[in-house]
Amino acid sequence: MPEKSYVGMGHTVCPICTKKHNSTILIDKRLRNTLTNDMVTDIGLCDEHQELYDKGYIALVAIDEEKSELPFNLDNVYRTGKLAHISQELFEQIFDVPVPDNPARLMMCPDDLIDKLQTLQPTE
Ligand SMILES: [Zn+2]
Repeated sequence: MPEKSYVGMGHTVCPICTKKHNSTILIDKRLRNTLTNDMVTDIGLCDEHQELYDKGYIALVAIDEEKSELPFNLDNVYRTGKLAHISQELFEQIFDVPVPDNPARLMMCPDDLIDKLQTLQPTE
């Protein structure tokens, strides 16, 4: 258990890469020891992924379905660490599902799908 204090640090966590950003100092107004230095206060895209989002890309986040719990959501999926971004145009060519309409335009996918996508795209 991390030590708690009436002063802590809150972070916004990127739903795509889980990077912490926009860190802020938190203070318990009643001065009770309820806070730690590592608290998630918000979910939001980091600069890098905001830029890709603004360009219209769809984020694919690879998960291990066997190690993840149902229902799949950002809190209980086991991420393999692989990510890919594809254009909306390519997404519609490859997948037979609607473009994800969540705020991060993120879709979870099996790990090997990212490997397959990489064979389709020329490497830079
Ligand atoms: Zn990110």
